[in-house]
Amino acid sequence: MTHSFSNLSLAEPLARAVAELGYESMTPIQEQAIPVVLQGKDVMGAAQTGTGKTAAFALPLLQRMLKHENSSTSPARHPVRALVLLPTRELADQVAQAIKAYAKYTNLRAAVVFGGMDMKPQTLELKKGVEVLVATPGRLLDHIEAKNAVLNQVEYVVLDEADRMLDIGFLPDLQRILSYLPKQRITLLFSATFSPEIKRLANSYLQDPVTIEVARSNATASTVEQHFYSVNPDDKRRALHQVLRQRGIKQAFVFVNSKLGCARLARSLEREGLKTTALHGDKSQDERLKALESFKSGEVDLLVCTDVAARGLDIKDVPAVFNFDVPFNAEDYVHRIGRTGRAGASGLAVSFAGGGNDVRLVADIEKLIKTKIELEPLEFEEDTPKIRDQGRINDGRRAWRDAGETGDPRDVLDAPPARAPRPQRTSHAPRDPFFDQPYQAPANDAAPAWEAAARSPGSRSISANIKPKRKVAALFKS
Ligand code: AMP
Repeated sequence: MTHSFSNLSLAEPLARAVAELGYESMTPIQEQAIPVVLQGKDVMGAAQTGTGKTAAFALPLLQRMLKHENSSTSPARHPVRALVLLPTRELADQVAQAIKAYAKYTNLRAAVVFGGMDMKPQTLELKKGVEVLVATPGRLLDHIEAKNAVLNQVEYVVLDEADRMLDIGFLPDLQRILSYLPKQRITLLFSATFSPEIKRLANSYLQDPVTIEVARSNATASTVEQHFYSVNPDDKRRALHQVLRQRGIKQAFVFVNSKLGCARLARSLEREGLKTTALHGDKSQDERLKALESFKSGEVDLLVCTDVAARGLDIKDVPAVFNFDVPFNAEDYVHRIGRTGRAGASGLAVSFAGGGNDVRLVADIEKLIKTKIELEPLEFEEDTPKIRDQGRINDGRRAWRDAGETGDPRDVLDAPPARAPRPQRTSHAPRDPFFDQPYQAPANDAAPAWEAAARSPGSRSISANIKPKRKVAALFKS
């Protein structure tokens, strides 16, 4: 079989490790990337975590490095030869574990350094000598500045999850790190998307790269129960209140398309008694950390966020995800709802489709996830507080249009937060301790406000915009 690892002529120690891990046939990214990397070409790969990407770059790099493997214990004989950069500590740790498993039967040593941890144990490991160094950019710079990591013998660089590194604002750090490396080297870049920024990065640092794209995994997890409700835009907040209460949801992410909509929705929900915080591109790092911390501690039940703001953080397994706005990009739908129902846990994804372009956007999602989407009408219950939005801007595109469609729509929608260039750092404060935290139900198990609101007799009209109960007309008649 051509797809088999046994046809790859992997060196025996690598073949043994791969067999032990139970890998038999290669994944598509492995099939395409391994031969190219073995030939020593630069690669620009579009692949996401979960596609077997780590082995796709690590196995051929290890195979090439084995030529100069040595069993000496002298640190000088184990200089850093391969550098793998990742945006978050969880990813760095995961990739380092995988590389260690692949290199298990070789004399090549691998280590990982990331922020938020004591520098000392990392320093000791670096001083012993490691050939493969997996790192997050900030902490690596700390080690470079402290002269713990010497990178003048690096032959291979992997920029993994490059789009996320740019989103987080690591570009200046990456530029500095890359400036320390020998020009003569092999560079591999992996990214979920090839945005103009990623292409610019590739143009600057890769030489004649071979582009490899594997089909994205656009499948949504079968453990996520997905609903699309047809809701009049003015009734979306009411619909949110109702679903939260009906389904007994303890905490949720609520996605909104625009920064403006995000801030405004969070404020309204807060006024209506729901414990809410907002996360969008205009928030400072401090505010973002505070918002995340309050969600994690259970101080707030709803995190209202935009796609860009949510990208850098991997709070996993949130009980429910709401698409208060249908995303403009069908792929964002997959990303958004990927935050619930992970690792076999059941999750709920609820989208409110409410007019405008939503019919087309829903059709895009349908096409992408290859699943028929039924738009369900949402009937309001008597108990649901009667709140109405008075048709103010939710969809950032309207604001953009009103502003004369000048500039970049992302200024209104959301763009990655602008970062000042990284100052020379002398302290080693942890960077962002909240990236990549698994979701944990907060210890505080008080009932969320929506449950209390429904029980309280005075809760029926929490806004002045009371209107008679009405059945929502299905906006989407097929
Ligand atoms: P990655 O995308 O590198 O994070 O890999 C995702 C998961 O797939 C990891 O648990 C790997 O151990 C596993 N994996 C990678 N390549 C293969 C393969 N060829 N066969 C089976 N499992 C694999």
